[in-house]
Amino acid sequence: MLEKVEGIIIKETPYGETSKIINVLTKEYGIIGIMCKGAMGIKSKLRSVTLKLTYGIFNIYYKKDKLSLLNSVDIINSLKNIKEDITLISYASYICDLVYQVIKNDNYETKIYDNCINSLLKLEEGLNPIVITNILEVKLLDYLGVGLNLTSCVSCGSKKNIVTLSSEKGGLICKDCYEGERIVPISLVKTINMYYLIDIKSISKISLKEDVIKEINYFISSFYEDYTGLYLKSKAFLKTIEKL
Ligand SMILES: [Zn+2]
Repeated sequence: MLEKVEGIIIKETPYGETSKIINVLTKEYGIIGIMCKGAMGIKSKLRSVTLKLTYGIFNIYYKKDKLSLLNSVDIINSLKNIKEDITLISYASYICDLVYQVIKNDNYETKIYDNCINSLLKLEEGLNPIVITNILEVKLLDYLGVGLNLTSCVSCGSKKNIVTLSSEKGGLICKDCYEGERIVPISLVKTINMYYLIDIKSISKISLKEDVIKEINYFISSFYEDYTGLYLKSKAFLKTIEKL
């Protein structure tokens, strides 16, 4: 029976001469594989709607634990602005890769889907991609089993005399445990907490200073490197872009 499933293509792989298999992050089922017969054919109506970052309603014959079969796609948003900008494509690719890794650990929740789609829609709207990506990264930490503790010193548990936030040590450091770590303003902690709590969908503008954005990005990127065990090529690529 034909079924309508909302989702976004996060990966496409050629299959045989003219077909391809797409990995779609769906609201209903998490990530599923869908066979697109003949989609690489020049005249196929599936050709243009089975590319990475296609966001729409997928009309499929759903098969649990097997490849589903694609019939057609109704586009919800073409994400045109992202697709026309190499920098935004890079952020969007990283977002897809990251979400793929998170769900691969078998902990799919609709919330992950919503956060992913809302992040991409905010990139499409033109909001700062570093901030949006960082917000998503902070929200996904819980699913990676390394939630951030930003309420007390990571070494001794004290809530008093906090002097800095250390990515190396994975959180706040108090005066007694301080060992010469890089000093960052404690006001950053509030902002990172806000990243954690805010509903991405509700963000309409970002008014953070450039140096705050950079410092938080540095912290979150280093934290990911040191604590999540993830290595994503798309992230490495982003880092080279951000240095330019
Ligand atoms: Zn301490």
